Amino acid sequence: MFEDLSTKLESAFKSVSGQARLSDINVAETVREIRRALLDADVNYEVARSLTSAVKEKALGQGGLASVTPGQQFTKIVYDELVSALGQEQEEITFSQVPPTVILIAGLQGSGKTTFSAKLAKWLKDQGKNPMLAAADVYRPAAVDQLRTLASDIDVPVHSIAEKDALRVAKEAVSEAKKAARDVLIIDTAGRMHVDEHMMDEVSRIRQTVNATEVLFVVDAMTGQDAVNTARQFNKQIDFDGVVLTKLDGDTRGGAAISIRNVVDKPIKFVSTGEKMDTISPFYPDRMAQRILGMGDVVTLVEKAQEQYDEVQARKLQSKLASNSFNLEDFYGQLQQIKKMGSMKDLVGMIPGMSKQLGDAEIDDDTMKPVEAIINSMTIEERRNPQIIKGSRRKRIAQGSGTTVREVNDLLKQFGQMKKMMKTMTKMNKAGRAMEGLK
Ligand code: GDP
Repeated sequence: MFEDLSTKLESAFKSVSGQARLSDINVAETVREIRRALLDADVNYEVARSLTSAVKEKALGQGGLASVTPGQQFTKIVYDELVSALGQEQEEITFSQVPPTVILIAGLQGSGKTTFSAKLAKWLKDQGKNPMLAAADVYRPAAVDQLRTLASDIDVPVHSIAEKDALRVAKEAVSEAKKAARDVLIIDTAGRMHVDEHMMDEVSRIRQTVNATEVLFVVDAMTGQDAVNTARQFNKQIDFDGVVLTKLDGDTRGGAAISIRNVVDKPIKFVSTGEKMDTISPFYPDRMAQRILGMGDVVTLVEKAQEQYDEVQARKLQSKLASNSFNLEDFYGQLQQIKKMGSMKDLVGMIPGMSKQLGDAEIDDDTMKPVEAIINSMTIEERRNPQIIKGSRRKRIAQGSGTTVREVNDLLKQFGQMKKMMKTMTKMNKAGRAMEGLK
């Protein structure tokens, strides 16, 4: 996600990093490059313009700082402006004082509305709520079945009826929720091909009838400025409460994410990054800005890790990384933990510099199977001291794991590179902490 934009911004910062201090000339050049990068990423013109003029003003106003390079200084200024464009603070959904909280989910067909409704139910359930779903997307025949299937996977009840009457489904669902003591009701409304009067009218009537607590509008981030325009149009009439950005795992250039807050003047409340039920996350402007700037989303990674990780193990790992004594045994243990945390590809994307290093290489969970088999065929001593694995040992391991010597060689080589990268990351973290001091 956003790789192209990250690369271009990084190269813009590089152009000043060789300079001893920020002068008028290199500021203007760099700001121009930043603006071009934003426009290439399909950021709304006005948003790109105001963001870059704020960057320019700050860069010129600050002058040089003795303790950091101009490149670092610029990165920090752009980071602050990005956070501000993305909405500054995380905005949560509102819960009603009197249950059930009713959340309407609206969006165009294919935006990921039904999938998101179910994901939100799961997310709320994981937060200790007791949610229920309602299938008010009554025009697309498969939508009700789709919601039922997703809901049964996450074990959340769904209210639906045979008639094509969205208002009735919604109304009945509220009574059902009250009866069953469900504290949140999520209503999946009908999507259309375009935002039209029908769609807005229906959402508006459901909202009134059920006295909805929140209306969330779902947009597909891959559609760029179309997503932004659709949200603007819908908001004019509906005045909704928040945006959900889906398909951020895809090949999106980032324009929708960066522009929508300013253009529509509504916060992004959630992002969705995949088809699986656990690929949903509240939206944090600061983390997104870090990701765009190639700083990686370390905080989310850490949180995910905290949800699944064994604290004692994690602390041990940290000290091993710091002392660079991380071995294949630890690596194997990590693989098992990572498998619990979700898809490899998502996780890799959160580590600074990692997605760039891997380029377009496909990483899926099967990729790790031969790796596991190879490590399984090693003795404990070999796992602890991979450097002793020479010719005959490599042959034995390949035979034992049903792989080839070449695969064993590759793994050992990659492990060596990974250790080197971790060393760099430890250094980067130190540099990051130094940057924090600038705040
Ligand atoms: P709806 O018509 O708006 O209800 O859209 P659906 O929920 O049926 O989603 C349309 C398609 O997009 C489905 O194939 C979903 O699996 C897929 N989808 C939804 N959200 C995401 C996402 O965040 N990432 C990816 N890659 N696919 C998604």
